[in-house]
Amino acid sequence: MSCARPSARSRVSERLGATRGAADQGHDEPAGDSAPSPDERYLLQAIALAARARRAGDPPFGSLLVDAGGVVLRRARNTVVTSGDITAHPELKLARWAARALSLQTRRGLTLHTSCEPCPMCANAIARAEIGRVSFALSTAQLALLKPPGYINADAAAVVYDGPALHAAAAAPLEGYYR
Ligand SMILES: [Zn+2]
Repeated sequence: MSCARPSARSRVSERLGATRGAADQGHDEPAGDSAPSPDERYLLQAIALAARARRAGDPPFGSLLVDAGGVVLRRARNTVVTSGDITAHPELKLARWAARALSLQTRRGLTLHTSCEPCPMCANAIARAEIGRVSFALSTAQLALLKPPGYINADAAAVVYDGPALHAAAAAPLEGYYR
C-alpha cells in the first residue's frame, strides 16, 4: 500500500502542473494578500476534522453544518472504523441530525461544509434532508488522484440487481399512497 503513495502523489503533481500551464506562470497560490473567504474558513475547520479522524484511525473526512447567519450548528468526522458503521460518514451524520432536529425552513438555509465532495450515499441524504447548499474542498476527481492506481471505491463495488418482478403484488401496498 505505502509504496503506491509516492506515485499517486507524483500523478497529482503532474496533473496540477499540467492544468496550471503558462497562464499563471506556475504560482501555486493566488497572488496578492487575499484573506480566506467565509467558505474557506469553514472548510479549513472541516479539513481539521478530517485530520482528527485520521489520527483516530478513521478515514480522513470531516464536515460542519452552518446556518444562514454563519453559526456552526454541528460538526462531525468520519467514524466508519471506530464505530464499525459503514454509513458513519460525517455528511450523512449531519444530514440525519438536521432532519431530526431542525425545521425544513432552517434546513433550506444551511450550508454543509465538507473536506471532500460528498459520496453518492451522503449526497442522497443531504438531498432528503433538504440542506440548501454544500461547500466542499477536494472534489471527487481530486480525491481519486490521491488514491493508488486501480483503487476501487467502496461505493463502486459490484452488486447484482435482479428485477423487476411480481409487479401487481409489489404495487398493491403502494396503491393510493402517493398523492
Ligand atoms: Zn459519504
